[in-house]
Amino acid sequence: MTEVRLILGDQLNENHSWFSSVDASVVYVMMEVRSETDYVRHHAQKVIAIFAAMRRFADVLRSTGHTVSYVTIIDPENQQDLLGNIKRVVEQVGAASFAYQEPDEYRVDEVLRTAAEYLHLPVRCVSSEHFLTERSDVAEFFADSKRWLMERFYRMMRRKHNVLLTSDGEPLGGEWNYDDENRGAWKGAPAEPADMRPHHDHAEIWQQIQQASVATMGNAHAEDFRWPIDRREALQQLDDFLATGLRYFGTYQDAMHHDSRRLFHSLLSFALNVKMISPLEVIRRVEQVYHQGGIDINHVEGFIRQILGWREYVRGVYWARMPDYVDQNFFGHTKPLPEWFWTGDTDMRCLSLAIGQSLDMAYAHHIQRLMIIGNYALLAGLDPKAVHEWYLGIYIDAFEWVELPNTLGMSQYADGGFLATKPYVSSAAYINRMSDSCKGCAFDAKKKTGQGACPFNAMYWDFFRRNEPLLRSNHRLSMVYRQLDRTS
Ligand SMILES: Cc1cc2nc3c(=O)[nH]c(=O)nc-3n(C[C@H](O)[C@H](O)[C@H](O)COP(=O)(O)OP(=O)(O)OC[C@H]3O[C@@H](n4cnc5c(N)ncnc54)[C@H](O)[C@@H]3O)c2cc1C
Ligand code: SF4
Repeated sequence: MTEVRLILGDQLNENHSWFSSVDASVVYVMMEVRSETDYVRHHAQKVIAIFAAMRRFADVLRSTGHTVSYVTIIDPENQQDLLGNIKRVVEQVGAASFAYQEPDEYRVDEVLRTAAEYLHLPVRCVSSEHFLTERSDVAEFFADSKRWLMERFYRMMRRKHNVLLTSDGEPLGGEWNYDDENRGAWKGAPAEPADMRPHHDHAEIWQQIQQASVATMGNAHAEDFRWPIDRREALQQLDDFLATGLRYFGTYQDAMHHDSRRLFHSLLSFALNVKMISPLEVIRRVEQVYHQGGIDINHVEGFIRQILGWREYVRGVYWARMPDYVDQNFFGHTKPLPEWFWTGDTDMRCLSLAIGQSLDMAYAHHIQRLMIIGNYALLAGLDPKAVHEWYLGIYIDAFEWVELPNTLGMSQYADGGFLATKPYVSSAAYINRMSDSCKGCAFDAKKKTGQGACPFNAMYWDFFRRNEPLLRSNHRLSMVYRQLDRTS
């Protein structure tokens, strides 16, 4: 009795139990479809990376004896949606059942929930065997709490998985959190590690994407493509990061520099989000390197917090708050995105650099996303849903379960403070301190008003003034309002 099993483009987990033995009665189906390329306009590198990684994954499965039915974007038989293609394969092989791994996006989950009815077959949904938590774990953890706090969840996860703990169960180094040490500006030293990511020629895939008229944005760099496309390459990238980046990660995690764009970040989010590597194996490797000595705890804890804490936490928020989450708009912001979000062509140098880099690399690190682009979007009153769709398209690692809470919640405060305890906004002073953007900008970071003044300054105070009825009672903002009260 043949079973058809679906593998989505972000389910490239070679260690999944499905693949532990070869079963001749199983046909794996993988597909490149317009329903997945077109729900927002994606960065060219994102589409190439996912297709390239899927094709490599299919090759790996075939080489180990599995049967794979692979539908390319230009296949004339391609129905261009998930269920249409699944039905075709089910009929071709005379399948008696269908199985899929739990999808991470609400949109796909909704589609696959209708599979039994559509296919008239028994359908099973199994775990993707990737995350450290189930979809509902975060909501259950906070079931009796008035307020959800990532920090509480993170400490529980450290204890549960015995991460960075002494034998008495206390945090290694004495603190749970070293954020105070992790706000250094970077002035050119230590040197940014060499970019050791692989080089690929994906001209053929890019040609097929264009042939199919998939609308994209950004630079494809198809002939010198720099993202890992299989587990081996992702593990190599992890090793390189552990050898060179981790030792400075914490101190400079918030720093920005115009031509050292990666600084000490890992660039592992794509590999993690398509499940080439698992969060737990990354965490264990980081701990192992720490125990070998020579790396301070603030770097290691800062990195592990992102994966064990934030990554699992935002996923829990996503599943607890969808489907309404995407429509939240606490401030009632409605402005459309400026045209230069698609070109980077603005005189505001910090924005031009961050957006220009995003278009060039399909990547910007957390603070560029949060405190440059997101900061501007929130201060300017851009429509949070439009902002979300832009972030969902442009970044190589953007999948809605992780992108939406980060954009709509953390960055745009559109959920009214469910995820962030206060809006993440700043005037030019912060950007000037944490980056070298202001040198050479058409605007003056230190000037508050008048000709040549940096727009971030007036926008910052205008934001707090116009949203006073919504924000003044937030005790984390009392200093801001005290200062505003003293300002003419
Ligand atoms: C507005 C906004 C949108 C974002 N959209 C995405 C997104 O679509 N996909 C995505 O994976 N991350 C997103 N993030 C979180 C973070 O910016 C990226 O995970 C990180 O920049 C990826 O680069 P890196 O691999 O070099 O990360 P590093 O700085 O090296 O961090 C290591 C890993 O920690 C995890 N991580 C770090 N911060 C977060 C976070 N806030 N939430 C979840 N995981 C985190 C990632 O898996 C990352 O690979 C967003 C952040 C903001 C502020
Ligand atoms: S002066 Fe203002 S606009 Fe220019 S780079 Fe600095 S913060 Fe950005």
